[in-house]
Amino acid sequence: MAAKRLTILGSTGSIGQNTLDLVRRAGEGAFDIVALTAHSNANQLAEQALEFGAKFVALASEENAGILKTLLRDSNVEIGVGPDALVEAGKRSADFVMASIIGSAGLEPTLAAIEQGIHVGLANKECLVCAGELVMTAVAQSGSTLLPIDSEHNAIFQVLDQKQPESVKRLILTASGGPFLDRTPAEMYNITVSDALNHPIWSMGAKITIDSASMMNKGLELIEASHLFGRKSGEIDVIIHPQSIIHSMVEYVDGSYLAQLGSPDMRTPIAYALAYPARMSAPVPKLDLTQTGGLTFFEPDLEQFPALKLAREALNTGGAATNILNAANEVAVAAFLDKKIGFLDIASIAEKTLDKLGRANLAQSDLASVLAIDEQARITATESIQGLSRS
Ligand code: NAD
Ligand code: MG
Repeated sequence: MAAKRLTILGSTGSIGQNTLDLVRRAGEGAFDIVALTAHSNANQLAEQALEFGAKFVALASEENAGILKTLLRDSNVEIGVGPDALVEAGKRSADFVMASIIGSAGLEPTLAAIEQGIHVGLANKECLVCAGELVMTAVAQSGSTLLPIDSEHNAIFQVLDQKQPESVKRLILTASGGPFLDRTPAEMYNITVSDALNHPIWSMGAKITIDSASMMNKGLELIEASHLFGRKSGEIDVIIHPQSIIHSMVEYVDGSYLAQLGSPDMRTPIAYALAYPARMSAPVPKLDLTQTGGLTFFEPDLEQFPALKLAREALNTGGAATNILNAANEVAVAAFLDKKIGFLDIASIAEKTLDKLGRANLAQSDLASVLAIDEQARITATESIQGLSRS
């Protein structure tokens, strides 16, 4: 079989590195690397390009372009710099693109990949949160297949009968609940960056780890699921399942529940997408149900995790609300990681930004309006953060 031509948008991140781990293990001849991209880590990007023989690399930030050029000067790797180069990476002819940039920065490169009409592994959930209609329209027009990488959505994709949508009653997203399930409101107030970065189950990039701690991640996933599977908010439930063994479920009208189980290791959904519709082996720990102990489930506490409630409200509002929520959350999480605001301020900044801009009922009909609203929400969220630090 011919090698699969693969591009990874965001190859230096957690999902990107896990994808390359599978490529490495698949051995010579399984994959040909078309393009790799990174934000600013020129050293890691150059190392990956040389190890995997990438044809093209794109670095978003201009700052380290000189380092990248020096490191690759004796190679044949073509180099692009700046946001346009990332879109170029998404456009380069491939069989599969892994969309694993974090945040709405990944929207345009991911759209470029979708427009190729190929298989796209979607880890970058923020694309669907900020521009769900636009992305799903592009998928329908190009004939691209979106293969969800998020473990919950990948689970649902595996057990969902897409041919008989009327047979499906509900989607049930499971959530590990993050590290703060047992905290009282007073204890939530004093959470530090290192507390929040210490996820009990999953090892992931910093932004999604903070989102998991606030449960904004589950809120973003609720919105993601709604677009991916064409379901209304009322048809999608969230339940806490701290062991993260059942990755999500589908409830059918006849009372059947189909679930996908596995060890919590992102290489399973990544392998599923890379090999789809076939399967490939992944070096994940065996799931031994005799050793896992009890599996527990309970309702999320929306007072303790207001971000989840906010995300559902934004989904119900529709239009630009989820875009505003996403941008404000990105700004607030960055400020928390920079120790400029407290943990509980993240959801309150998102709420304030929605209050300020949501009522303006901003229309978002095309890419330009999505990007303009994203920008406006970032400015508004930044002003709220400055207001907090002054008070
Ligand atoms: P990460 O922070 O580890 O990596 C992000 C990647 O995007 C890096 O390659 C980085 O260089 C690049 N990047 C960051 N900012 C950029 C910008 N402004 N412009 C261009 N490139 C930029 O993130 P991650 O944990 O790998 O997550 C990637 C995506 O996958 C996110 O949307 C996340 O929600 C989703 N996801 C991740 C996991 C996981 O296990 N890590 C699980 C489920 C979903
Ligand atoms: Mg997930």
